[in-house]
Amino acid sequence: MANLGTLLFLPGDGIGPEVMDEVRRVGAWLTKARGHEFEIVEGLVGGASYDAHGTPLTDDTLEQAKGADAVLLGAVGGPKWDDLDFAVKPERGLLRLRKEMDLYANLRPAVVFDALVDASSLKPDLVSGLDILIVRELTGGVYFGEPRGIEDLGDGTFRGVNTQVYETEEIRRVGRVAFDLARQRDSRVCSVEKSNVMESGLLWRNEMDKLHQAEYADMDLSHMYADNCAMQLVREPKQFDVIVTDNLFGDMLSDEAAMLTGSLGMLPSASLGNTDVNGRRAALYEPVHGSAPDIAGTGAANPLATILSFAMMLRYSFGLESEAAAIEVAAGEILKGGLRTADIMQPGMAKVSTHVMGEALIGELQKSEVAVA
Ligand code: NAD
Repeated sequence: MANLGTLLFLPGDGIGPEVMDEVRRVGAWLTKARGHEFEIVEGLVGGASYDAHGTPLTDDTLEQAKGADAVLLGAVGGPKWDDLDFAVKPERGLLRLRKEMDLYANLRPAVVFDALVDASSLKPDLVSGLDILIVRELTGGVYFGEPRGIEDLGDGTFRGVNTQVYETEEIRRVGRVAFDLARQRDSRVCSVEKSNVMESGLLWRNEMDKLHQAEYADMDLSHMYADNCAMQLVREPKQFDVIVTDNLFGDMLSDEAAMLTGSLGMLPSASLGNTDVNGRRAALYEPVHGSAPDIAGTGAANPLATILSFAMMLRYSFGLESEAAAIEVAAGEILKGGLRTADIMQPGMAKVSTHVMGEALIGELQKSEVAVA
C-alpha cells in the first residue's frame, strides 16, 4: 500500500459535511481498489470553527493546511453567522486560508457531461463534449490594488477608487501554471486582457509573450480581449483549451463558462500556489458552490462537485491521472443511467439523495475495476 501523503479535510458548514461524507467513500475505494492511501486529517473551518473556537480559522488549522499535501474544503457560511462581525464571519476563514497559502492560480474547469447537455443555456451542439479550463489570477489585480477607497469630496459627492495593478512576476507565475496545465491537455493557451485600453493589460500581454518564447515555445499561445472572450464563450466555446486571465476578468469569465455546464452542484475548482523544495505545490480543492443552507440537512445536496474536486486533487497534486479520469467517467455514467439530485433533475429521470448518488458512483467505480480486470 503506497502512502501518498497528508490530506486536510475541512468539511465546513451547511451541506459541506454532507458532501464530504461521500468523498470519504471515494477515498476508501481508492485505497481498496487501487492501493493508494492518504493520511487524512480533519479540521474545522467557517461557522463550525467559530462555534468551537470563536474564529473561522484557527492558527493550528492554518498550519495544518500549510503542512498538508493538499486541502479539500466543503463550504462555509450560513444564516446562523450572518450577524457576526465581518472579521469573524465564516467566509473570512476561507479567504484567510487562500491568502496565507498564497494560492494565486484558481482553476475552474467547464466540462459538459453528455447526459446534462440539455441543462446548458446554449444549444446542445455548441456545448456537447465541451472541456475547457479557466485559470484565473487570484491574489492580485484590482481587488487588491492600492490606492483604494471612497473619498469624501466635501460637497456631498464622493469618489470611489480601485487600482488595477500587476507586476511581471505575478503574471509569469500564473502564466506558467496555465502552460503547464495546457501541456497535459491540448497545449493551447489563450491569454485574455484589455491591452487595447489598459496599460496593465499591455504588460500582461507582453509578459505572456516573453514567457511563451523563453519557456514554452513549443506550445500554442493566442491573445484575446476580455470583451471578445466573453462573446466567444457563448458563440463558440469549444474553440478554447486553457484560458488564462487576471482576477477581475477571470471572476466573470469563469462564472460565464460555468453556466455553459448547467449546474452549480457539478462544478469543481482548485486553487494552486508555489511549489516547495520537495516539489510539493500548495493546493486547495473545493466545489464552486456555497453551503446551500436552504437544503442543508435534507439529503438533497449534489455531492458531485466535491467528488470532482477530489478527482482534480488526485490529478494535480498526486499525478493520479487514471484514478481522476475513472472518477470523472463514473460520474458521467451514473448521469447517463438517469440518476439525478434535485438540482439537476430532468423529466423522466430518477431523483436521488446525496448518499444514493455517492453510493451509485462507488458502484460504477467498482464495475469499471471488474471490467479492467
Ligand atoms: P450556494 O451556492 O450555497 O447556493 C445557491 C443555490 O444553489 C441554492 O439554492 C442551493 O440550494 C443550490 N446549491 C448549491 N450547491 C448545491 C449542491 N451541491 N446541490 C444542490 N444544490 C446546490 O450560494 P448562496 O445561497 O449564495 O450562499 C449560501 C452561503 O454559502 C452563504 O453564507 C455564502 O456566503 C456561502 N458561500 C460559500 C462559498 C464557499 O464556501 N466557497 C461560496 C459561495 C457562497
